[in-house]
Amino acid sequence: MADVRKQWLDLVNKYMLQPDGPANDRFWVPELETCSRDRIKDIQEEKLLLCVKFLYECSPFYREKFKKAKLHPSDIKSLKDLPKIPITTKTEMVEDVKVNPPWGTYTTVNEEIWSRRGWMMFATSGTTAAPRAFRHTLHDRDIWAWNDARAMWAMGIRPGDIALIAFGYAPHVFFWGVHYALNLMGVPIIPRGSLDTRRTCMFINTFKPTILGATPSYALYLGDVMKEMGYDPAQSSIRIIITGGEPGATIAATKRRTEALWNCELHEFYGCTEASQTAGGYTCQYQVTQKDGPVCDHLTEDIQIWETVDPVTMEPVPLGKPGLSVVTNLFSEAAPLARFLIGDYTVLNYDPCPCGRTHALAVGGFYGRADDMLNIRGITMFPTAIEEAIRGFAEVGDEFQIVVSQEKMLDVLTIVAEPRPDVPEKDYPKLAKRIQDAVRLMVEIRPNVDLKPYGTLPKTEIKAKRVFDQRKLG
Ligand SMILES: [Zn+2]
Repeated sequence: MADVRKQWLDLVNKYMLQPDGPANDRFWVPELETCSRDRIKDIQEEKLLLCVKFLYECSPFYREKFKKAKLHPSDIKSLKDLPKIPITTKTEMVEDVKVNPPWGTYTTVNEEIWSRRGWMMFATSGTTAAPRAFRHTLHDRDIWAWNDARAMWAMGIRPGDIALIAFGYAPHVFFWGVHYALNLMGVPIIPRGSLDTRRTCMFINTFKPTILGATPSYALYLGDVMKEMGYDPAQSSIRIIITGGEPGATIAATKRRTEALWNCELHEFYGCTEASQTAGGYTCQYQVTQKDGPVCDHLTEDIQIWETVDPVTMEPVPLGKPGLSVVTNLFSEAAPLARFLIGDYTVLNYDPCPCGRTHALAVGGFYGRADDMLNIRGITMFPTAIEEAIRGFAEVGDEFQIVVSQEKMLDVLTIVAEPRPDVPEKDYPKLAKRIQDAVRLMVEIRPNVDLKPYGTLPKTEIKAKRVFDQRKLG
């Protein structure tokens, strides 16, 4: 058993090139980031074959899963055999934790490894289900840092920058990798932790960080509080905002709004607690500054295999067609999950990015989890499409709500938004009509628009709760 773990870690480390710093000013690891598709496939194949052995031997959950599918690691002989491995879902993990509390058996870290070189525990959020917890090791810390550093190098973060990281240092994967990556890059950190927002603004004004790490919602809120305090965020030292937790740079109107507010470039990370805790997806300098077409997220294919699957059949969909994101993790000691269904809609393509990186792109980013999708009067839509429409109105504040209710058996969509204080109330009806038209153009349904005085809606500090589906209550 110990042997396969050692072989796995040796293999992962073999491809952890440039562990101490970047090769040049454009790429941290040009050998990996600009390599041919054949080379990417070779690396993935070499890792996949050993990864399934490691999972089979060190994760009882996966051993059972393989046995149920009448599959043995030796049946996975090449990348082409990947679809033989059944998809892993969150629900299966929840069931596993119920039977095997508190850790479950889906990870490959046991008591012995945890007590010898454990680094940190992360857990899924929510209070209803038992948390799914992951014990990560020092190996994972180093590889998260290395990979996030590669992503942030692509974003244009360089020594000389100073980063203010506005997150709670909670047991969520969000920004922990970024923290260690900044250390590796030689970029000092001002941690926000539980500082209140006004004090955070004062810190920005006093200590002049150049990088802000936050959720997209918090970046907007923080900018507004800066203004209230008499500081102009556009004149502040912040030049790049990096976000995670929600789509940011890939929603055009949110990107424009945030970049105008702060006079900065807005970047985003994409990942998840279970399998893609480091920069699974990230934006590069080209993507956030290009003027034509959607902003795409880069994926890192030397450490992961990305697929998109049909939401009903769970069969892989062809490149260029929308499907749900599935990831196979090829770098982790704790969570080398095989074919884990993250479940966000996206479209993958293999066109090289003009920045020079050759790995797959998620076109337009990840639009939202399948379970976030709304069905209103038979039309399915993502709340992010409505956000795109609302955020296009400069005279409307950052907070908004999407309320879905039922009247006489008919679904009703209501947008609650707040015009900025300088919009006179007599102009509300005209503005409401324009918002109606914009939302209808986006999602084909004419909503009711309820405009409330500025400051009525609760301020979003971390992740936004924007959708209130009252139909589910009845
Ligand atoms: Zn690029």
